[in-house]
Amino acid sequence: MKLKQMRKAAALLAACIMLLAGGGLYAHDQGQEQHGAGMEVHFLDIGQGDATLVKCGSHAMLIDAGENDKGVAVQAYLQSQGVESLDYVIGTHPDSDHIGGLDVIIYKFDCRQVMMPDYSKDTKTYRDVLAAMDSKRYKNTLPKIGDSYKLGDAVFTVIAPNKAYDSANDNSIGILLQYGEKRFLFTGDAEEEAEQDIAGNGLDISCDVYQAGHHGSRTSSSDELLDAADPAYAVISCGENNDYGHPHARTLNNFRRRGILVYRTDEQGTIVAKTDGETITWNCAPSESWQTGSL
Ligand SMILES: [Zn+2]
Repeated sequence: MKLKQMRKAAALLAACIMLLAGGGLYAHDQGQEQHGAGMEVHFLDIGQGDATLVKCGSHAMLIDAGENDKGVAVQAYLQSQGVESLDYVIGTHPDSDHIGGLDVIIYKFDCRQVMMPDYSKDTKTYRDVLAAMDSKRYKNTLPKIGDSYKLGDAVFTVIAPNKAYDSANDNSIGILLQYGEKRFLFTGDAEEEAEQDIAGNGLDISCDVYQAGHHGSRTSSSDELLDAADPAYAVISCGENNDYGHPHARTLNNFRRRGILVYRTDEQGTIVAKTDGETITWNCAPSESWQTGSL
């Protein structure tokens, strides 16, 4: 049986047992702690780039903050969601479509832990982020494969980068985020070489939701990664009419062939996935356009 089918069967079995037990008062799964308020993952519509907010009870994490001119929009979104401080801020890698807005976030919010890879870039964008961290006296936490961090009742584990690479993209921090039985995979802009190392590092990266690597580029979402991740859903964060033609046909075709349902910020705006640990609900239906980005 494929992993996805096994998970579905397990969920069905759990639901039956809960019914037999009399209404599910004892919602419990495989010895993990009981679920609290649920977890929300918001894939922000910030044009070409990534910015993802994770909320779990009173805890929050931000993965990337979009381009330089998107910091204020990300700040406003976080405030609209009642976020006052961030437990974790991850800058997946130093490209401007990921850390451009991060300086604003670091200035405006108390951030308990900031994590960026051991890879620097000689750009104003990168220096701005370091200056913001200096001004708040924050130290960077380097990602270490296999390290796990608690975010309320959720847990995330570092799955990348697995070594030092030449390209900024391949040095992206990757994480596997889990709440109850539901698992979300983020790989930043990691491309094929880094994806092979992610798939081969021995960590279980099977997931329900996969944020398509590198905005749906053909250079990411390789077969090795998709075989290991086996997601039911993919979320593509990219800008309408972006300069790169994201998402590329190869990626969309792979998703379609594998029966992966696709959500996209360029067509659908901000995508929100909510989970109680057993099921995932979305703020919109999956995209059925299968349209590649235009070049
Ligand atoms: Zn990017």
